[in-house]
Amino acid sequence: MDKLLKVNNLNVRFNIFNATVQAVRGVSFELDKGETLAIVGESGSGKSVTSKALMGLIPNPPGEIASGEILFENKDLVKYDEKQLQKIRGKEISMIFQDPMTALNPTMKIGKQIMEGLIKHQNLSKSDAKQRAIELLKLVGIPKPEKRVEEYPHQFSGGMRQRVVIAIALACNPKLLIADEPTTALDVTIQAQILDLMRDLQKKTGTAIILITHDLGVVANLAQRVAVMYGGKIVETGTVDEIFYNAKHPYTWGLLASMPKLHMKADKLTAIPGSPPDLADPPKGCPFAPRCPYAMKVCTDHMPEYAELSGTQKAACWLLDERAPKVAPPVTIGARGEE
Ligand code: SF4
Repeated sequence: MDKLLKVNNLNVRFNIFNATVQAVRGVSFELDKGETLAIVGESGSGKSVTSKALMGLIPNPPGEIASGEILFENKDLVKYDEKQLQKIRGKEISMIFQDPMTALNPTMKIGKQIMEGLIKHQNLSKSDAKQRAIELLKLVGIPKPEKRVEEYPHQFSGGMRQRVVIAIALACNPKLLIADEPTTALDVTIQAQILDLMRDLQKKTGTAIILITHDLGVVANLAQRVAVMYGGKIVETGTVDEIFYNAKHPYTWGLLASMPKLHMKADKLTAIPGSPPDLADPPKGCPFAPRCPYAMKVCTDHMPEYAELSGTQKAACWLLDERAPKVAPPVTIGARGEE
């Protein structure tokens, strides 16, 4: 399949006061056309910074892409200036954020907000853009779109607002949609509806999706591949089945164990003890070592290399070295919400 995106050895840092925070450290991944990749990790893992870097949205100062490539259809976006990036944003690459209210202008009618991008990027006339706005609202499941196109954001519920944000993001048929925690601010029933909607839309439009989430549960039904981030690095990547049924990294095991399972009481959920590393002073060895129940001396002294586990799965963990003791994944892990 054709590669839409290739990220090579991306490093993003923030210069804050006297410290340099190395938020993203040597991240590489690829995305095929029409594919969905989930980037999963706790807050501070670097997943959101990675997604903002793809859109050219790292505020400089204090942030900067220190090195690396972001090849979007073989063009390196790291070398693009703001004017060139503006042409790509919204047209070729769109983004949905966690809180739909911050993405919408409260003083502007919904229809006008959808029409803006269509007029700017697709040179549609006002009446054609309005017609397209109505079609898009219909596509994302908003009833009576002809009427609602004239309404303001406060007249929509949280779930409906997120549908509008998705309509805006899809207005110009982008090749890539980046969804940063798109359902976190919504209640559980609405979350499921929005995820269903995204899956349906992807089938209809063929847009590739990068889904950023802290919640592995969100991933199971939407993504084809998963990259698990920790301490600014991708620690494991694989297909959804590889990550859910055959994960090899102890941090991925921890995320799986902290996922709610069917028939499991909330008090049985296992949180990963400890907190993420201070990326102003990143560890020289494995970033997960202070929290890892399997840590060995080598883990704190040296960064593990990636072990290729299949054509699609790799993980960076010293347990995968042939000299390491053999460790079985904890039995508490259940895949896709099963026990
Ligand atoms: Fe744990 Fe060591 Fe593997 Fe890091 S490298 S996850 S500390 S076993």
